[in-house]
Amino acid sequence: MANEFQPLQGMSDIYAPEIYLWRMMEERARAVFNAYGYDELRTPSLEKLSVFKRSIGDTTDVVKKEMYSFKPSKHELALRPEGTAGTIRHLAGRGEEGLNARVFYIAPMFRYERPQAGRKRQFHQVGVEATGEANPLADAECIAMQKNLLDAWGLTGSKIQISTRGEPSDRKPVAEGLRAALRPFENELCEDCQRRIDENVLRVIDCKNESCGKIVDQIPSAIEFMSPASRDYLDQVVEALSAMDIEVTVNPKLIRGLDYYVHTVWEISHSALGAQDALAGGGRYEIALGKKGIPGVGFAIGFERAIMALNACGITGEQFAPDGGIWLVSLGEAALKENMKLARELRAKGIRCGMELEAKSMKAQMRKASRSGANTVVIRGDEELEKGIAVVKDMAEGSQQEISLEEFVRDA
Ligand code: AMP
Repeated sequence: MANEFQPLQGMSDIYAPEIYLWRMMEERARAVFNAYGYDELRTPSLEKLSVFKRSIGDTTDVVKKEMYSFKPSKHELALRPEGTAGTIRHLAGRGEEGLNARVFYIAPMFRYERPQAGRKRQFHQVGVEATGEANPLADAECIAMQKNLLDAWGLTGSKIQISTRGEPSDRKPVAEGLRAALRPFENELCEDCQRRIDENVLRVIDCKNESCGKIVDQIPSAIEFMSPASRDYLDQVVEALSAMDIEVTVNPKLIRGLDYYVHTVWEISHSALGAQDALAGGGRYEIALGKKGIPGVGFAIGFERAIMALNACGITGEQFAPDGGIWLVSLGEAALKENMKLARELRAKGIRCGMELEAKSMKAQMRKASRSGANTVVIRGDEELEKGIAVVKDMAEGSQQEISLEEFVRDA
């Protein structure tokens, strides 16, 4: 139910305990990318609309229907719907260095889509782009890294499907071949696809309508209209992956929607995701910027969907919650002040440490201690201060003992 305390439709607040899972995923992603020599890139969330139009292509749904765009002054601006366009805008500005770079990003994306399970208007992606090396091994290495990341998160049961969009010179024969093969079935296609045959025939191939799917099964695949070199490129990617023991399925019906793709495209799905089962996508692209065409390969994994899949594997935020730490109980004003000092010392050691900041009853303080999830409670009053000791209670076992404060701090 919408109310004044809720974020906008299709957007979410992310908080504990789920945030602990996000942090684990981000940390492990950084470690995996570091191992492959990728550095982090943070681009602004807002760019000129033209940055997205020129690279994603303005016939795609993302650009045509789903952009949050507005015109505050001279230029039309847009919130980024994906990470590649801004990354390439940045790399192109870095000259030679940008043409041979490996970068990753972890960032929010914005698409004005109809919200439903697994489809949000603000969602988050972890993604990578590698420019320069335009060969099948670069594509295979990128997929291998993505698989490493899913493994590092503990995600099992995902499936990789791969295909090719071929070279730009394949576009015409593919479109003509598919159009001719579909023409005899034109009247049996859904209304959208009858239009798509002439507008953007590849979209017929990945139409989700069941009867369109049956027709597509009867005609030759897009790959069959491509040049031998393009088909060989795909074979080499699959072979390189198989040599690394990475299982993929070639699915010629996989068409990634964006215009900038050439050669390899892939998608990773997970059965726990239901209708929106795409967990991640990736591909090789050639993005024209100025006179230059920048070759690159990259992927993006949706955080929210990865979390749904991880939850289905029994992996949740609670498992990555920080250590419960220590709670200080102060009996009297003097102990309250001394505990402020002790808390500072413990916190400087990186220990999670909490305390009540006003003199309250022992019972009230213990209740707060247990609500905080602390593993250990340290109780001090005038007597303990005088003797230089503390009563230390183990919350799991319920046992308690007196120990010297000095010893406690040293071992904490
Ligand atoms: P795409 O750039 O559309 O290939 O998306 C890459 C990945 O981002 C997808 O596989 C999803 O995991 C995720 N994703 C895309 N759109 C959304 C959305 N509206 N809500 C949540 N996740 C999304």
